[in-house]
Amino acid sequence: MNILIMGGPGAGKGTMSARIVAQFHVNHISTGDIFRAEIGSGSELGQKAKSYMDQGLLVPDEITNAMVAEYLAHLSDRKCGFLLDGYPRTLDQAQAFDTISAQQPDLAIDVVLAMEIPFATLAERITGRRLCKQCGEIYHIKANPSKQEGICDVCGSELYQRQDDTLESLEVRLAEYHRQTEPVMAFYEAKGLVRHINANQPIEAVWDDVKKALTNL
Ligand code: ADP
Ligand code: AMP
Repeated sequence: MNILIMGGPGAGKGTMSARIVAQFHVNHISTGDIFRAEIGSGSELGQKAKSYMDQGLLVPDEITNAMVAEYLAHLSDRKCGFLLDGYPRTLDQAQAFDTISAQQPDLAIDVVLAMEIPFATLAERITGRRLCKQCGEIYHIKANPSKQEGICDVCGSELYQRQDDTLESLEVRLAEYHRQTEPVMAFYEAKGLVRHINANQPIEAVWDDVKKALTNL
């Protein structure tokens, strides 16, 4: 099964992705995570992406599309399918991905999960997000806190706050979402692939709805 998860910054894509991967054994492809890993390793790609990410802007399509094509070419275990998280985010990316999957039908998207939430509620999610430096587990200081402040429950490593999780960057990211990503939702809606999820509920309730959407295909 090939899944695409979409939604504004802080809608809960990463939180649901971790659960989907554990339950459905699909490969998780998060372009945000890949860019952050590239920045961490000091690569040329990471350096190019960083200036855009720090401002909340989308990384240009030619850089992002090339990175995803390269990633998919080296995906060793394709038979389980994948979960695309944070890509495609522009119409150009959706069309580039369509071209790849027309040539390789095992890459075609089966379902799009649209994580729906009023944008006014996203500031609290974004500013309260904390992540594990080591294993990437996602926390929230109020909605989903770690047992010991600043320490990951799963692996005991330190938690950190993403550099772009500020109100200033959120404003830019929301504008990018409206301008560039909403048309992508319409693109998949026209293909009849979209399942709408109310992402403005407690995590367990969102997860129940996601599981239902993925098992009643
Ligand atoms: P995204 O990947 O869409 O940017 P995340 O999954 O990282 O979003 O979630 C953003 C923040 O909101 C995190 O701190 C996470 O713990 C928290 N969060 C995720 N889902 C919910 C929810 N249903 N209710 C409350 N907080 C949530
Ligand atoms: P995310 O982790 O999905 O919140 O993404 C963090 C940042 O990475 C975004 O604000 C963009 O700068 C960049 N990014 C992630 N995915 C994409 C994409 N598909 N296209 C362009 N930029 C992206």
